[in-house]
Amino acid sequence: MVAIRTISITASMPPLIANLEMPEFTLFHAIQCGLFFGIGFLASTWLNLSGGQKSDEDIPETTLADEPSKTSEQDADLAEMLHSVVENVQSLADGMRTDVHKHSQSVERINNDLSEISGVEGVARVIAHLIEANRHLDTRLNVAENRLLEQSHQLRSHRVEARTDALTGLPNRRVFDEGLQRLFDNRQRLQEPGSLIMIDIDHFKEFNDRYGHPVGDACLQAVGEVIRQTVQPLGGIAVRYGGEEFAVLFPQTEIFDAKVAAQRINYKIEKLQVKLEQTKLAVTVSLGVAELFRDDTPKDWLGRADRALYDAKRRGRNRACWHDCHGCHEIPKGADPAWEAEEAGASSPRQEFLRDVDRRLAMFQRKQQPLGMFVVNIDPIDQRVAITQGDFKQIESGVHLAIKGLLRDMDHVCKLSKMQFGALLPGTDGTAAALVAERARKTIGQLQFETPNGVVQVTVTCGVTEAREGDNSKGLVSRAELCVKQGTEQGGNVIVRSQDKCDQATAEQESTTPVIAS
Ligand code: GH3
Ligand code: MG
Ligand code: MG
Repeated sequence: MVAIRTISITASMPPLIANLEMPEFTLFHAIQCGLFFGIGFLASTWLNLSGGQKSDEDIPETTLADEPSKTSEQDADLAEMLHSVVENVQSLADGMRTDVHKHSQSVERINNDLSEISGVEGVARVIAHLIEANRHLDTRLNVAENRLLEQSHQLRSHRVEARTDALTGLPNRRVFDEGLQRLFDNRQRLQEPGSLIMIDIDHFKEFNDRYGHPVGDACLQAVGEVIRQTVQPLGGIAVRYGGEEFAVLFPQTEIFDAKVAAQRINYKIEKLQVKLEQTKLAVTVSLGVAELFRDDTPKDWLGRADRALYDAKRRGRNRACWHDCHGCHEIPKGADPAWEAEEAGASSPRQEFLRDVDRRLAMFQRKQQPLGMFVVNIDPIDQRVAITQGDFKQIESGVHLAIKGLLRDMDHVCKLSKMQFGALLPGTDGTAAALVAERARKTIGQLQFETPNGVVQVTVTCGVTEAREGDNSKGLVSRAELCVKQGTEQGGNVIVRSQDKCDQATAEQESTTPVIAS
């Protein structure tokens, strides 16, 4: 079994701290870096968590239960954790200030000694003292940086936890509220389309009563997974809205695509069988779909999706309805033959990814919304540590997770082939995609995979490109793959970006390493 841990801090120490030829200058910058990093991270985390919360006014009257969610509990936990992190960083800053003060006193003493010494031995002794003082400070700064990184990891994992539903692993209501808010904020500027699906499991109380709560939990997990898998390739963000209710937010998506997604979910859940010992249990859902209109408030939009869901329940459940602003209509089942054929052909993740690329490319052609993508290829692994097939799989899934962790909910990451992943970034141009790819390269380079035969580290080569007029999915992906090939031929562990003017055969390596905000 392979476990991932982050690389030890000393290995990633910037030369700034390791090289103490100019002690005070180095020291000052080291402390600045540490404090900026800690305080900047705290601020951004805090803003991320507190921003975009809906006011009570925005929450619609709904047949969907207002989540008696764990968010307020999580808020309290988070506030407590932030408080303790702030205290830790404060005491760390105090410690660093004391260390700096002591160090500058030592350097001053040494400086005084310099005026009194004579002869080679005396100078050598002073230099030795200076080196010793620097080494001491270096150690102290290593410890401080270790602790800052620990705090930052703690904050990151709390942030992920606070945004994830523990049972289904889906994003929670907080993410939905933030996504909704973002969509409305951007909409004022972009006037983009948007669609929404509300989903409620039918007769779930009865299901729980009959089979027990743990089986009910397993059912929720299975339903959540089907919803996620169905909507992700279509650009939808699936969340657990609360209880036995789910929601899917489709930014930049017309109602037509959302209706297709609702049909597919309805169909797939109908086929889903929840296992209970030797038997398999059936479950169904009702769905309500609504399109975003120009003058909508969040409350209007959610209200229409909710009314459509209510109508689906009223008409007998196990169906989807949509609201067209005047009234509700049922979405006929199985009216998507292309999809039925696609389902029968059990499409691969690569095919799904290519379909998503084509869909986004259509958006790019129609609305000139930028579309960035990159391919990440794991470089040949140093085989001094014997790696089994199982280890390879674990390394792949570790890299997959690391890439996913850097992307937004709306981005699409997928395994394209052995040791190779693709990431599609809607609304992102090639320059921004190169920054994300560079961050992925650095993050993955810091992972350590523990195998039974020793620790393995990997590097990756990334090929970056963006949509151009006349592109199709195959062209776009193969352009990024070509960049990867060129990077690999140059020894790997680089980002290669396809330049605007060059054709497919002349991708160039980025001349400068992109600057990444930490
Ligand atoms: P309808 O078809 O009208 O939606 O009926 P329903 O029974 O699904 O709706 P109702 O609101 O009456 O019941 C919802 C049930 O969902 C009650 C609650 O126990 C169950 N539930 C909510 N959250 C969880 C959970 O996390 N795990 C389990 N096992 N059950 C849950
Ligand atoms: Mg309900
Ligand atoms: Mg229900």
